[in-house]
Amino acid sequence: MQLESIKGVGSKTIGILHDLNIYSVQDLVNYYPYRYEILTPFSLSDAYKGERIAINVMITSVPNVYFFKKNFNRMQFNCLHLNKEIKAVIFNRAFMSQHLKIGKIVTLIGRYEARNNTFTCEDIKLRELSTTSITPVYHTKKGLKNSDLHKMIINAIDYSYTMENDDLIPPEFRSKYNFMGQEQMLRMLHDPKNHDEVKKATIVAKYEELFNFMFKINYRHEVNIGIAKEPKKFNKTQVNNFIKSLPFVLTDSQNDATDAIIKDLKSKKKMNRLVLGDVGSGKTIVSFIAVYATFLSGEQSVLMAPTEVLARQHYKNALNIFKDYNLNIELLVGSQKSKEKEEIKERLLNAEIDLVIGTHAIIEENVVFQNLGLVIADEQHRFGVKQRELLQNKSDVADSLYMSATPIPRSYALTLYGDLDVSFILHKPGGRKEIKTVIKKYSELKEVLRTVLEEIKKGHQIYVVASMIGEDNDLDLKSVELLKSKFDMAFQNKVPSEILHGKLKAKEKQEIMQRFKNNETKILIATTVIEVGVDVENATVMVIFDAHRFGLATLHQLRGRVGRNDVDSYCYLICDKEIERLKVLEESNDGFYICEKDLELRGEGDLFGQKQSGQRTFKMADLRTDKKILEQAKKNSEE
Ligand code: ADP
Ligand code: MG
Repeated sequence: MQLESIKGVGSKTIGILHDLNIYSVQDLVNYYPYRYEILTPFSLSDAYKGERIAINVMITSVPNVYFFKKNFNRMQFNCLHLNKEIKAVIFNRAFMSQHLKIGKIVTLIGRYEARNNTFTCEDIKLRELSTTSITPVYHTKKGLKNSDLHKMIINAIDYSYTMENDDLIPPEFRSKYNFMGQEQMLRMLHDPKNHDEVKKATIVAKYEELFNFMFKINYRHEVNIGIAKEPKKFNKTQVNNFIKSLPFVLTDSQNDATDAIIKDLKSKKKMNRLVLGDVGSGKTIVSFIAVYATFLSGEQSVLMAPTEVLARQHYKNALNIFKDYNLNIELLVGSQKSKEKEEIKERLLNAEIDLVIGTHAIIEENVVFQNLGLVIADEQHRFGVKQRELLQNKSDVADSLYMSATPIPRSYALTLYGDLDVSFILHKPGGRKEIKTVIKKYSELKEVLRTVLEEIKKGHQIYVVASMIGEDNDLDLKSVELLKSKFDMAFQNKVPSEILHGKLKAKEKQEIMQRFKNNETKILIATTVIEVGVDVENATVMVIFDAHRFGLATLHQLRGRVGRNDVDSYCYLICDKEIERLKVLEESNDGFYICEKDLELRGEGDLFGQKQSGQRTFKMADLRTDKKILEQAKKNSEE
């Protein structure tokens, strides 16, 4: 069904809907409110001091509007509430003044201060509130009002239920649990009469979502285990010799993972294995061993990374590891000239390349291999479930290996990745020092700067992470640009610093990274683009601003960028909020533990590093609270 066929969806709104990850009518009706605004008309005399309430008033004076700085104004008017005259104040709503006519009855939402007889409004509704009202509130974007989005969704429900609809829950389970029908569920979520309806419908929606997820996973598992392939032919001794030639000894976990992979490669069935391990646990080398075995078997490998920076790093690393071996290795990324790309594609088709390393986007293009034997996806959580599907479709019989540094609790991993075999890499290679992590308030920034300077004097380098790129209205956010000017000022422009963020061109990014690697730049100020896999051993300090804006797992990954050699490393979390939550990071360096805490504290949206609405793995379910539903859905989907 086309989105455009829904009343209210126009050419202008469609772009916004896409931004919200809504592409179909199905997506639209499944775009659930993130909260509900419940309003009951109240009388001032019943309110506790400072309680947030809604009251009906009649306007008795023309609003006065005062303009302050740009984008800032204050509006004030008098009104009558149950025969009592009070003052109402609201900020930044000057545009409403024309609707606030004397004699009109409106609803004020906010808090009353008896001392100055003033009601400070958060919001004003231009109508009288007669009974308790419940309004769904959606994550939306500029240009699409909550109420318009709401109307669209209701229209979409009306529209889709005039047609035949697939029920996503099998009838036996629907009746077993006494669940309402799907249409009723959607109406209760998007247009509830009361909170009880929301509660009832939410459970059904969660079950529906988890049942479907688990059904797909189980289905894929069934399909995967059945796919036959040609076992790879290589001599295990040769692989062992390669392992012996490495500059280090593998850890026990690395050995276990390697053994499992070797077995998979030699088996008659297609490999679908996920290697899960903390940042710096050494997953890359495990995948290179698989590449080597595949090469010995006369087949090609592809390694995909989520960013170009990371792809280039893998490429360099591979050239180094395989320098004494006879592999042809190439890089294939978006910023290359198309002529260069065409040439590589041709050589891939002619099997003149044994290992190609690139970003996902490139691999999605029409790249054809002569005898692809192994597909590796690094940091696979970045790709999401959809891309995982795409990837598996791409390589009919090639073995697939996924690597992820999102440490999720073991039991969840086995459920959520139930379509894959999972190898856990539990410990980091020895000899590395722990990263000392300290939470600092903004007022303590000077101490942090002192450490930064000391480390720079020792010849070391610094990462600084900020959560936003440019100036933002929200003054809490320290943009990378602002931070750069602050650091430059603090060090009197004597310490070279550079900015790195996702909106730069690939070539620029790569040059900036190169200068940092060459130790020409001392301080790299970046958004989370550096989150994934960047390796600069000389960096010893990680300073993260507004740390409360990140999930624990993300912060843990970020600090994994330092502590890569055997000198002391530091991570500073700069923020004034949510200190309790962040303390987990001061206390522990164990990724799996941190992740479990993250899950407890913030829910699954963050766990997968996809906090933005619509990007989460689940729209409705929250693994922190819905473990029981997940287990039930898993069991039922197997049945
Ligand atoms: P990640 O699991 O985060 O992808 P990497 O594969 O990038 O980790 O490994 C991090 C660093 O550890 C690399 O510099 C790598 O060469 C090194 N390394 C990997 N395995 C070992 C080991 N067994 N002993 C010592 N160093 C190792
Ligand atoms: Mg890695």
